[in-house]
Amino acid sequence: MNAFKALGLEENFLKAIEDMGFTTPSPVQEKTIPILLNEETDLVSLAQTGTGKTAAFGFPMLQKINIDSKTTQGLILSPTRELCLQITNELKNYGKYCKGLNVVAVYGGASITDQARNIKKGAQIIVATPGRMKDMIGRRMIDISKIEYCVLDEADEMLNMGFYEDITEILSHSPKDKSTWLFSATMPKEVATIAKKFMHTPVEITIGGKNIGASTVTHEYYLVNARDRYQALKRLADANPSIFSVVFCRTKRDTQKVAELLIEDGYNAAALHGDLSQNQRDLVMKSFRTRQIQMLVATDVAARGIDVDDITHVINYQLPDEIETYTHRSGRTGRAGKTGVSMVIVSKSEQRKIHAIEKKIQKKFIKKEIPSGMEICEVQLFHLANKIKDTEINHDIDPYLPSINEVLQDFSKEELIKKVFSVEFSRFYNYYKNAKDLNAAVGDTSEGSKDSVRYFINIGGRDDFDWMSLKDFLRDLLQLGKDDVYKVDVKDNFSFFNTDTKHQDLVLTVFNDFKLDGRRVSVEISKDTGRGKRGGRDRGRRRGDFSKKSGGKYQGDKPKFKGKSRRKNDRPTSGTGGRRRRRN
Ligand code: ADP
Ligand code: MG
Repeated sequence: MNAFKALGLEENFLKAIEDMGFTTPSPVQEKTIPILLNEETDLVSLAQTGTGKTAAFGFPMLQKINIDSKTTQGLILSPTRELCLQITNELKNYGKYCKGLNVVAVYGGASITDQARNIKKGAQIIVATPGRMKDMIGRRMIDISKIEYCVLDEADEMLNMGFYEDITEILSHSPKDKSTWLFSATMPKEVATIAKKFMHTPVEITIGGKNIGASTVTHEYYLVNARDRYQALKRLADANPSIFSVVFCRTKRDTQKVAELLIEDGYNAAALHGDLSQNQRDLVMKSFRTRQIQMLVATDVAARGIDVDDITHVINYQLPDEIETYTHRSGRTGRAGKTGVSMVIVSKSEQRKIHAIEKKIQKKFIKKEIPSGMEICEVQLFHLANKIKDTEINHDIDPYLPSINEVLQDFSKEELIKKVFSVEFSRFYNYYKNAKDLNAAVGDTSEGSKDSVRYFINIGGRDDFDWMSLKDFLRDLLQLGKDDVYKVDVKDNFSFFNTDTKHQDLVLTVFNDFKLDGRRVSVEISKDTGRGKRGGRDRGRRRGDFSKKSGGKYQGDKPKFKGKSRRKNDRPTSGTGGRRRRRN
């Protein structure tokens, strides 16, 4: 308690702190509170999520405002409705012994007139999401011309979600001489830019390392013919069985159409766009949060409010018109220090946009190839093997076991494994066995028919490899030149790579009896021969472009889905009726 007193907080706040059971200030509170209490200054405070930033700005704001006045003196902008409500509740708790305090939350999806009425009663502090706030200022329901303190909470997230313009617009209605306090978990360039734009020589406080999580997104693009776009999307999903993704389309119509096609084809998908009612949107978001939905197909506007961590992939089904929008899209993944992949499906005519985006985001894209049918079959097979390995036995089946055993008694363990896997494998195999290469040829054809072999190797992300480190590892081990191992594709439990055919014997010999940390590492020639002739020259040319920091680690198996897969059993064949014809 004394520790909070030492920061300069007054008695009625110390009492509230005692009620809440806080005993010692967190580091960000310890550093921030005295500065904000004692100085009229702008401030940038960087600390990870969950470190107590709300109290770090909440107590100083409450202590500094005049509660006897009904004028709005403090504004807190925060990215989502949930956070907005959370902060409002916290502030009410902190100020429970301040008589006459009125903190009002302002956010979308609820009655604007109710919110306006609450503000009219005299709100000293408003906690708002930028969209609704801008709306209400425009309708003259809120007056922020006299605010003294403005907090930009979770600034990185607000920018990720595309609120830059709204924030600028809102702040243009506030006085120049207020103090602005910016709180953020990370300090990407965009945050530094708004700090510069809206603040005067701010005090800077950093708890822990700067920039954590700022470069955790890998950007990939896939070149296909425009008519193959949807098939390409399906393959990307099938090649990543544990995908938890947002798929961006340009229009509401496309969003609806793609979601419908995916559902028809047996994927856990849903659409999110402005033609849905708030209620429908809430339902979709709830299913997404609980992972009932693995692929959320959304428009940019509708996706603004998505605050879901652990999104493994953002898929740009179509590129946005504005380059700026791409940043917001890719920012949906790689949150909270996790890694993520932003994939772009492009047709040849859009390819130049990739370069424009690279310039904007100051990062290189990796050109990747749409996986072949056989590669997907292999991925699915090993996904199943691992799923079986990780499945907890449900003992409710015990009573049925004797009869089940009776049915299966004539089969050996080997036969049973073959049968179990055939159930799953056959449906992918039957669907994909004659699937064509979806990759559009790139302009130049300096290919030189290099014969290439693709290998499967049973090490991957779980062994701490990403494609670069695995490539280095293989080159070292095989004593090959720098471009001799290519198309390295690391999955969680296994990987693929290519060499020219002339190195095939070497590879197989070296891995004939090879152990890594005591585990046998095996290499097999991948059935996936369809793509061999494409050589891997793109990889070769691109190597080195890829920033070491961003790692490129495959995320496939990361999230553990609680809900069981609700894909239709016959998924890969279910779409063949209408769709196959179009594809072939
Ligand atoms: P951040 O905004 O940095 O993500 P929050 O302000 O939401 O973090 O705080 C996270 C949690 O920690 C909240 O439940 C809050 O009540 C609690 N908390 C904040 N400060 C303290 C403290 N000094 N002692 C104990 N718990 C605290
Ligand atoms: Mg916070």
